[in-house]
Amino acid sequence: MLAGLCGACWPQWARRQPKACDERDPVQGCPFCAVAAGAEPDRVLYQDSRLIVMPDRSPRAATHLLVIPRAHVANTNCMGPGDLDLAEELERVGREVLSRHCAPGAPMRFGYHVPPWRSVDHLHLHCLAPPFTPPLAALKYSVPGVWLPSRELIARLRGAGGKRAWGAGARV
Ligand SMILES: [Zn+2]
Ligand SMILES: [Zn+2]
Repeated sequence: MLAGLCGACWPQWARRQPKACDERDPVQGCPFCAVAAGAEPDRVLYQDSRLIVMPDRSPRAATHLLVIPRAHVANTNCMGPGDLDLAEELERVGREVLSRHCAPGAPMRFGYHVPPWRSVDHLHLHCLAPPFTPPLAALKYSVPGVWLPSRELIARLRGAGGKRAWGAGARV
């Protein structure tokens, strides 16, 4: 059921196998590496040397943006303590750009879909300002085990304390 709620994020296993965790160079066929290479300039709302912000192709909230790193990071399971600054920057930039595009004072939600609950195997932070459309779509962006809030990822990376705690290729 969850798979039908978000056109941008349906089970990854339905499409392809996960990429190697240590892959951080551009990956051929990766749609977000293509965006980073300039394939869809009209879609880009913000970009800097590390990150790009764009609207989700299948928005499930009044405002629904994605923040991606230019470097190919497969997913949150591939992130280690060395990625703490990246995780913080993703949320900081996402919050800034979302606040410019959503209604003033709107509640904001930031997080990631965890494997296999994502379609594109290139890290992307969902930035949402509800209401969700349809309302049931809120589940896809709140259920533990499917959804990892950005603040939890940051806490996890901080708590890992330099150890290689998860993900075979996690950066330390
Ligand atoms: Zn997603
Ligand atoms: Zn990629």
